[in-house]
Amino acid sequence: MSAPTETPTNKPAETLSEAARRRTFAVISHPDAGKSTLTEALALHAAAITSAGAVHGKGDRRGVTSDWMEMEQARGISITSAALRIDYGGCVLNLLDTPGHADFSEDTYRVLAAVDCAIMLLDSAKGLEPQTLKLFDVCRARKVPVITFVNKWDRPGREPLELLDEIEQRIGLRPTPLNWPVGIAGDFRGLIDRSDDSYTKLHRTPGGATVAQEERLDHDRAAEIEQDAWIQAREELELLGEIGADYDEESFLAGVSSPVLFGAALPNFGVGQLLRALIDLAPAPSPQADAAGVPRPIEAPFSGLVFKMQANMDKAHRDRMAFVRVCSGRFDRGMVLTHAATGRPFATKYTQAVFGAERHTIDTAFPGDVIALVNAQALRVGDTLYEGPKVEFPPIPSFAPEHFAVARALDAGRYKQFRRGIEQLDTEGVVQVLVSDVRGEQAPVLAAVGPLQFDVVKHRMEHEFRAPIELAHLDYGLARRTDAASAPILHGLSGAEVLTRRLDGELLVLVHNKWRLRVIERDNPGLVLEPLLAGG
Ligand code: GDP
Repeated sequence: MSAPTETPTNKPAETLSEAARRRTFAVISHPDAGKSTLTEALALHAAAITSAGAVHGKGDRRGVTSDWMEMEQARGISITSAALRIDYGGCVLNLLDTPGHADFSEDTYRVLAAVDCAIMLLDSAKGLEPQTLKLFDVCRARKVPVITFVNKWDRPGREPLELLDEIEQRIGLRPTPLNWPVGIAGDFRGLIDRSDDSYTKLHRTPGGATVAQEERLDHDRAAEIEQDAWIQAREELELLGEIGADYDEESFLAGVSSPVLFGAALPNFGVGQLLRALIDLAPAPSPQADAAGVPRPIEAPFSGLVFKMQANMDKAHRDRMAFVRVCSGRFDRGMVLTHAATGRPFATKYTQAVFGAERHTIDTAFPGDVIALVNAQALRVGDTLYEGPKVEFPPIPSFAPEHFAVARALDAGRYKQFRRGIEQLDTEGVVQVLVSDVRGEQAPVLAAVGPLQFDVVKHRMEHEFRAPIELAHLDYGLARRTDAASAPILHGLSGAEVLTRRLDGELLVLVHNKWRLRVIERDNPGLVLEPLLAGG
């Protein structure tokens, strides 16, 4: 274990105080719930940008152009994952972006391995949606504390109590509202702050997402102005008090309860409260357990975890960029780190911080920050970089794939390049590669969490490894872990196929869908069919 020693770059007292003011989080949501709008509203509210749209404007992407960006623009989706830094109230908020497209990939999940907290963003009219649920599962598995923001309260939606009930019933997360809306969804009047029972009336500011105009009203005045809406809100608040739905730090940090805020990102209602909740309630970086389970003190020399790789950001250089979450110590650009997997030195002369679509060179970073290392060919997702005595963090778990396709080299003469490319993409974690004697090594099965991963493989196989491929999609929708005894029985069943995961040798059985799986389970009791849990 490494002691919190002082090195020329690392000063434990400074590292501790800097870490204490970091909040590193991601927004989990279903597409269209308002993640981009909320990101802008947070940044805007914190006055980090001067006009809406500058950070995340979908129609106005600036920065490095590359074939990635071309692909992104052509499909109108966001592939790159970046971090946005917001300075607010003496804190540094690092918002890690999760790709928002309906095509899901493992990247989205891996970002959750690098955050200390998540905002679960719900559309007030829709409640919990499929991707919110999937992402929440990862948060739960990793015990990431979750703050819930019920968005679009300015539009017609569901009853607030009904939404809370859904959260509790469907995902077993105990909601503890921090504020309460006056006026039903679509008739948003204002918010009661449950911590001091104060009422803030909100006024729309023309021109969209600017900081909302707020007016403090005492209860008598509020009752007079809001009338029935006020009476209803007071009744609901009484009910909440009776059932004890009050904020509780211990259960929040354990991922058992979730503070809930109502608001609307577009007119910037309740966004200030969300920022406050992040600062007051969300945890600062805490010691991360290494592979042996020993927590690495925050103030120990530098250590960081690679949670995302981005290839070919710059066409001219074909570089590979590693996104690293700082876990301990102070980072200084130019320092030479050690790559835990190989023991080799890694120079960090060209370190960058990534804000929105733009890159900036950074000189220092502290626990909770995200740095981007260029020329990171040697690094893989899950790798550790450190200074001083060796430390290695446990690997980021791989996630349950739901899409499967057989890959074949279009040009049989380029089989060597094909094999090298597939191996490389497997090791990088772009897709999982499954093999079987039946299919042969020329036809590996690629397994993905989201179909977008296949596009990335196709693109990189053609442009980077010069081995274009064709993909034949397989009619399987889920995978289960099995064992050597069950495999031959499963392999003989229709609608099931057993393959080996190349990287770790796990035996996986692929099945069409959950109905087929149920039938198999019913007819063959005794077989090993373990779910592949998303998250750790
Ligand atoms: P994303 O896909 O989750 O990033 O969602 P966007 O931020 O792109 O928002 C989807 C749509 O919902 C856009 O048309 C937004 O203008 C709209 N929207 C987002 N937040 C709000 C809100 O608070 N109120 C209203 N009325 N519309 C919103």
